Amino acid sequence: MIQDLRRPTRRAALQAGAASLAALTFDMQPLRSAEKNADDLKKGYIDAHVHVWTPDTDRYPLAKGFTKADMKPPSFTPEELMAHAKPCGVTRIVLIQMSFYGYDNSYMLDTMKRFSGVFSGVAVIDEEDRPAERMRELKKQGVRGFRIRPAGRPVDRWLDGTGMAAMWKCGAEEGLRMCHLIDADSLPAVDRMCRKFPDTPVVIDHFARIGVDGQIRDADAKRLADLARHKHVTVKISAYYALGKKKMPYTDLAPMIRRLLDAYGRERLMWATDCPYQVQEGHTYAASIDLVREKLAFINDEDRDWLLRRTAEKVFFA
Ligand SMILES: [Zn+2]
Repeated sequence: MIQDLRRPTRRAALQAGAASLAALTFDMQPLRSAEKNADDLKKGYIDAHVHVWTPDTDRYPLAKGFTKADMKPPSFTPEELMAHAKPCGVTRIVLIQMSFYGYDNSYMLDTMKRFSGVFSGVAVIDEEDRPAERMRELKKQGVRGFRIRPAGRPVDRWLDGTGMAAMWKCGAEEGLRMCHLIDADSLPAVDRMCRKFPDTPVVIDHFARIGVDGQIRDADAKRLADLARHKHVTVKISAYYALGKKKMPYTDLAPMIRRLLDAYGRERLMWATDCPYQVQEGHTYAASIDLVREKLAFINDEDRDWLLRRTAEKVFFA
């Protein structure tokens, strides 16, 4: 969905100073037509998973239980993000609500409004507080998915509550994605929910974190591959800095990507960095995209186009 550039929101108007600075970074001069911008945006790659935040905690307060010390790095604004992404040919990005803002999605939503057409969003809501109503409201603001996770609940039962059922039902009705931050041991519970809600679109983040302890176990990879039997499940092949050997150029992850490609097909896999974490401690943005752009010998140009753009476009920018 392309939002209207000519109707600034109240908050966007307040941010006019910041927005004009951002226009330089984003190459979105007001003299260019919205249509031309939209065309240019569509040509680039899509990073399907990034978090942004601002050091301005007066304006965007942290949720209870979080402090500024949790913000590492202390700042990761859209401008800082695009300084990494743009030189790699990335023009659109899916923002994932950051944990330390809790259920207050306003920084993400304001960022989406400031840079029309550049960002999609995955929000976090309280599943016990009118979840379907909130999901529909957020959809109107460009949100396309909702991040869910066990959060300390048992891995086999965390999806069983009435709040989750309401979210999955609404997801099916509205085409909104249930975006899972899980480990492989949660996959059987997800499989059960997919059988119960076969029309609900599902996204699995970061290969279900297989390899986070350094080991890529065959049984885990099989469980993730088997979930492909549900046709509305897509997987983010992402967060290379955190998985397997956790070392550039991340080619040890290639066999797992190949296995998932065989199971899901190119139209259900999407690349993402998980910035800012991909650009810490010597890891680079370029190393992440280059794994898919240059180092997977088993894919062709069309596969690459799906993994780096078209799947994410279909899932998050439709
Ligand atoms: Zn993340």
